[in-house]
Amino acid sequence: MTSYKELGLVNTKELFKKAVSGGYAIPAYNFNNMEQMQAIIQACVETKSPVILQVSSGARKYANQNILKNMARGAVEYAHELGYDIPIVLHLDHGDSFELCKDCIETGFSSVMIDGSHLSYDENVALTKKVCELAHSQKDYVTVEGELGVLAGVEDDVSSEHSHYTQPSEVIDFVGKTKVDSLAISIGTSHGRAKFKPEQCTRDANGILIPPPLRFDILEEVEKQIPGFPIVLHGSSSVPIEYVHMIEKYGGKLTDSVGIPEEQLRKAAKSAVCKINIDSDGRLAMTALIRKILVEKPDEFDPRKILGPARDELKKLYSHKNQNVLGSAGRA
Ligand SMILES: [Zn+2]
Repeated sequence: MTSYKELGLVNTKELFKKAVSGGYAIPAYNFNNMEQMQAIIQACVETKSPVILQVSSGARKYANQNILKNMARGAVEYAHELGYDIPIVLHLDHGDSFELCKDCIETGFSSVMIDGSHLSYDENVALTKKVCELAHSQKDYVTVEGELGVLAGVEDDVSSEHSHYTQPSEVIDFVGKTKVDSLAISIGTSHGRAKFKPEQCTRDANGILIPPPLRFDILEEVEKQIPGFPIVLHGSSSVPIEYVHMIEKYGGKLTDSVGIPEEQLRKAAKSAVCKINIDSDGRLAMTALIRKILVEKPDEFDPRKILGPARDELKKLYSHKNQNVLGSAGRA
């Protein structure tokens, strides 16, 4: 049993309070390997941004949870070594069972998500409440994110063909009964790099897909029901067209890629949305650079020369997000 405080981590409580009142969102970046972690920490230290290191159950399977935990400890020390201590959260993304959340809490995660959104409303309440009771009774309070409404799309082990929007009428009851610390809602964001079907979009003059706008009316209604309560957006990558084009130029194929425009995320971050999840954009940046180097330097076989530039690009991407999209730069 490890407490997250032993690792130098923090929970989301204070961070979210400040983010809601300050009109910005904390970045939640997924990581599975060292290069991603280094890029996240370099970018967040340089921009002085708090950060949520996010681990999916797919990441646990890929990298091993003890390795990830110790990488989070390493992230804290690395930030310190870079010269600026930023608040770092280690968060379980899309926990799908009580046992998984319990395991993460005992391993040293400072925050967990229990995603009961695929269950009936009453079952979602019961499961989320059970996880909150365990997390909140720890010696060091572990924060819990719940979810109401279903996002479409595919991300690691999470997939859903159809979305349904969060019902604002349910949020007071859900938050009151479960005692969650934050709530993920569905207002039109979506997992993966093809967030909408082409028939849901329009096209601009260059044939590039323009997605339907987020449902800010639902967000406003939710905020009216639970004023100041921390709201989370999943599936909030913007799927930069430059990366899609670079991947396709160097032999990849990513048909009908479309994300959430950055202006809409910036607008959301100014509201009670205080955590924005970004995974696909990091995958795209890394893949784009790896493909480019493999094509341009066919004699290169040192993985450091291939992954190093991908790491640099990731750092650039995360700095841009903190400064221009989430508004979290300068808030640590
Ligand atoms: Zn998600």
